[in-house]
Amino acid sequence: MPPMTTTPPELSGFSIVAGEVRTRRSTTGADAFRAVNPATGAELDPLIHPATDEDIDLACTEAWTAFAHLGVREPREIARFLDAIADQVRGLGALLVATAVAETGLKQARIETERDRTVFTLRMFADLARQAEWMQPAIDTADSSRPTRVRPDLRSCLRPLGPVAVFGASNFPLAYSTAGGDTASALASGCPVIVKGHPAHPATGELVARVVAEAASVEGMPKGVFSYLAAGGRREHAIGERLVLNANVRAVGFTGSFEGGNALAAIAARRPDPIPVFAEMGSTNPIVLLEDALASRSEAIADEIAASVLGSSGQMCTCPGLLFVRRTPAGEQFVAHLADRLGRVDRAIMLSASVRTGYTKRVEQIASVRGVDLRVGETNPPKPDPNLAADAHEPIAVRPALFTTDAATFRENAKLHDEAFGPSALVVLASSDAALLEALGSVQGALAGAIYRTPSDEALCDKVRALLEHRVGRLVFNGVTTGVEVSHAMVHGGPYPATNQPHTSAVGSSAVRRWCRPTCYQNASQRDLPLVLHNENPLGVHRVVNGQPSREGIAGP
Ligand code: NAP
Repeated sequence: MPPMTTTPPELSGFSIVAGEVRTRRSTTGADAFRAVNPATGAELDPLIHPATDEDIDLACTEAWTAFAHLGVREPREIARFLDAIADQVRGLGALLVATAVAETGLKQARIETERDRTVFTLRMFADLARQAEWMQPAIDTADSSRPTRVRPDLRSCLRPLGPVAVFGASNFPLAYSTAGGDTASALASGCPVIVKGHPAHPATGELVARVVAEAASVEGMPKGVFSYLAAGGRREHAIGERLVLNANVRAVGFTGSFEGGNALAAIAARRPDPIPVFAEMGSTNPIVLLEDALASRSEAIADEIAASVLGSSGQMCTCPGLLFVRRTPAGEQFVAHLADRLGRVDRAIMLSASVRTGYTKRVEQIASVRGVDLRVGETNPPKPDPNLAADAHEPIAVRPALFTTDAATFRENAKLHDEAFGPSALVVLASSDAALLEALGSVQGALAGAIYRTPSDEALCDKVRALLEHRVGRLVFNGVTTGVEVSHAMVHGGPYPATNQPHTSAVGSSAVRRWCRPTCYQNASQRDLPLVLHNENPLGVHRVVNGQPSREGIAGP
């Protein structure tokens, strides 16, 4: 299908509920706000009108109605919808890229890569929906030959939970936002989606929401299949809370901070019928640099790690925050190289004023711990210039930070274990292998971890690997933790606090399983069953029939 949006749509700043822009009934205006361009500090158009309570409730009611309609759609219809969204997002072209760059301060090349990844993700879930194998169909045919009791005909597969509320993060305005991985995987599973727009990139959110709504209309989807709630300003948090408490919402996908994820999980647990919250949160992503690897190429490794710490101003969930090194000449040399690389950058643009505040507070907190040295960076950064004219603005920027400490100080200070979201890293210099392992054993759950090693490092590497594989979702060898592929084998998850659901992944095809639950049908007739469980196997998928993988149709009742 060719892209439908050839001219830039005029943005309204309002919510889009079940295919309709909610401009008819304005808020009082007191709640309205504007996003800020972090690279200049200037306010941006349009004025954003956060969703009203009525908008939120309507979105949820329409989503529930749509859920029943989606249940009778064939997988290929949902696949076509996802492909249409992918076409439309790509069709937004330079307009989408420029809007996201202005709202986030991220570089154009980074946003283009993220846009491509978002389109790829939508297409991957379209393929997945078409094939329907993700539903894990299993059939145990009735068995009357058993001596004790006749086994009934049992058939099971994954079935969608219902409307999903999606909360994206500020640092991925496309891939973890309006039409990102959570939205794509939830739609693929047959769940309608209500996106709570992120206040840091509202124009980007509305642009994408408009084309998702357009794709839904063109593909004949029920109109409540997708809604977008503009959010932020004085209504910050309130919209998300009301959404999570709505009885028609059956699951929540969250990407963002530890505080935000836990707050929403607590709200969901308070409901009379608690619902699952899949929260992907902050992460320190430990990297262990073993002796021989550093002795052979400490400068090159320092370059790789510096690029990973500084990429997107350190504002990626997989940026390395903790580095474990032996206190040896090679280790010291590595720290000196890394300090040199980070020290060359005097200004890193941050996503928003609140992200900058969070970063500067964390830098001050880490630097205040006895036994920690601030090798690069600053505490008490200069305040905005008071002589600036009222309409003049300053970029939202910080300096990178590098800290060093010893293994015992690290182990004993909880303050050193949390994420510092921004361009910073803490190096733990261990005086022995045992001290290194002990310090490493105290790290929190993380999305990813890495080991730099050579064959000569093998003995210690085995112990490091054994520790790390229980603490991370993805373990990288001789490479950095940043750079997440969208593929079938990818795991983007991990133990708490990286996520609150360590058995799931937010990236890759397995992400679809979060929005479903297994359902079993006993002695059902063909018309009672989902298509994927019919005798003749009309979707042609692999099924487990009486314990054996099979694509064949079966004889049955
Ligand atoms: P954030 O401040 O937690 O915001 C994320 C979303 O949650 C926003 O929509 C925000 O909306 C909402 N929210 C936050 N606190 C809330 C509360 N108490 N009640 C209701 N809603 C709440 O995170 P961010 O600054 O956008 O993103 C940066 C963080 O995301 C970093 O920690 C980063 O590591 C993490 N991240 C993780 C992953 C991953 O895959 N694990 C990926 C990307 C980013 P309102 O502000 O309108 O309430």
